[in-house]
Amino acid sequence: MPTAVVTGGAGFLGSHLCDYLVAQDYRVICVDNLETGSLQNVEHLRGENFVFVNHDLTRHLEIEEPVDFVYHLASPASPIDYLRLPLQTLKVGSYGTHNALGLAKFKRARFLLASTSEVYGDPAVHPQPETYWGNVNPIGPRGVYDEAKRYAEALTMAYHRQQGVDTCIVRIFNTYGPRMRPHDGRAIPTFLRQALANEPLTVFGDGSQTRSFCYVDDLIRGLVLLARSGEHLPVNLGNPQELSLLELAKTVIRVTGSKSEIVFEALPVDDPQVRQPDITRARQLLGWEPQVTLEDGLRRILQANQRESLSV
Ligand code: NAD
Repeated sequence: MPTAVVTGGAGFLGSHLCDYLVAQDYRVICVDNLETGSLQNVEHLRGENFVFVNHDLTRHLEIEEPVDFVYHLASPASPIDYLRLPLQTLKVGSYGTHNALGLAKFKRARFLLASTSEVYGDPAVHPQPETYWGNVNPIGPRGVYDEAKRYAEALTMAYHRQQGVDTCIVRIFNTYGPRMRPHDGRAIPTFLRQALANEPLTVFGDGSQTRSFCYVDDLIRGLVLLARSGEHLPVNLGNPQELSLLELAKTVIRVTGSKSEIVFEALPVDDPQVRQPDITRARQLLGWEPQVTLEDGLRRILQANQRESLSV
């Protein structure tokens, strides 16, 4: 039975990854300090093949048993969180990534870095291929996240080139699904919460900025395919179906049957105007592409919330 360490495993993506790996007969060691994650996300997994370790990854991490994979997801990810936790975000991207890579090196494990489409900043190339180096403002408020991830990518490549660690890097584009926190500030949970309460949906700017939303099950399948591949260079994973924020708000209203109207608010600083992954490499290397449409994904969240009696 392979063993995987999942840092940030009690968060949104991490907990779905833990679910998937346990279902695939992995032993999973979930390492998380619960800064933005929650034990509730993983409590159903507790058992022989799942261990939770409450640990701040900016400090040295020791695991006794053999490890085959290190999935490094620990980092605040929502703008609300990293704007509130700027130093922690930089520290977990730097010291935290050092510690996760050190563990992978010591255990001779395959290492996966969860990077982000934010490394492209406000892109001048559209859609964004992995060869694009990005357009990031290092001193703006979002710089703490974007630069932490860019540093983490550089560090990962250095451990690979200099130390021979078997690494891969995934650049994740906006992903959504059950267990997102209703107040985490990201567009889909915010719109769902507002629509279900028949409150106005708050769209930033004129809503013409675009995003591409990938359903969590598609993303997790891609992460595991990449970790099992022999690839070392970054791979984009996301849904190339692009839509404007205004279209997203209208879709949420339609799917929820809400009576909400749409209101417009000021654009946040350095909010990217466009965002769409070029997934040619993921298609070629992994045979991967997303299968779940936006409307289906939104319905799945509503069903999951009904099942778990959670409010969105
Ligand atoms: P999340 O906030 O739900 O999960 C992050 C987890 O990391 C949380 O459980 C948190 O407690 C943990 N964590 C933070 N700092 C830590 C530390 N110092 N030590 C131990 N644990 C720590 O966010 P998410 O959306 O699940 O994102 C997971 C990863 O995927 C992040 O690295 C993020 O940058 C990346 N990512 C996510 C998206 C997305 O759309 N969700 C997009 C791009 C990249």
